[in-house]
Amino acid sequence: MLKKLFDFISCKRPRSEDSSKAPIKKRKPYIFCAICNDVISLSSTLRCGHSFCEPCIAQYLLYSAECPKCDRFVRNANLYPSFSFDQIIEEEIGKTDLEKWKNRRNEVEINKKSKRLRRAEIGMKIDVRDLEGIWCVGIIKCAIKGNNNPAIYVHFEGWDNCFDELIPLDSERIAPLGLYTNKNIPKYVLPKRDGNKQADLVYYKQ
Ligand SMILES: [Zn+2]
Ligand SMILES: [Zn+2]
Repeated sequence: MLKKLFDFISCKRPRSEDSSKAPIKKRKPYIFCAICNDVISLSSTLRCGHSFCEPCIAQYLLYSAECPKCDRFVRNANLYPSFSFDQIIEEEIGKTDLEKWKNRRNEVEINKKSKRLRRAEIGMKIDVRDLEGIWCVGIIKCAIKGNNNPAIYVHFEGWDNCFDELIPLDSERIAPLGLYTNKNIPKYVLPKRDGNKQADLVYYKQ
């Protein structure tokens, strides 16, 4: 009888130990990115509430207009960082993966900086993302320098002046010429002078 009881206990015990030793992905699936399947590095949240690694979702939305998790239309949505969620992830991943996670975050930050516009001069062409989330070619009409909030006044090439915009120099909506507009991503096809007044949005396959 006693042996049976021990067998029962020993048979029960490993199961509870196993659950705490289960892969982190099974225990904490909410800290994983649905795009790269790794722990979210530098979280970025869409307006639908779903979070991903910032570079993963930024790259994904170059080609798609919908959230990869819930299919909600988010093309023209901003990506929001979440420092609190980053903090939760840091506390959840444990010591072994912490170093690797921190290194990935550093790489993302370095990569983001490499995409920034290094200089801004009048007449210079750049890539600029419009308020619909589409990358266009822009021309700098005016550069506001100084230490406080440097910005550029951008004209969208081929578009009416009423679309011109003042954009902070550190905005992720601007990038060196060709970084995005040379990719096969959705682009406007501008109307011919006498033709249809509306521009078409063309989606290319990846
Ligand atoms: Zn990811
Ligand atoms: Zn979503």
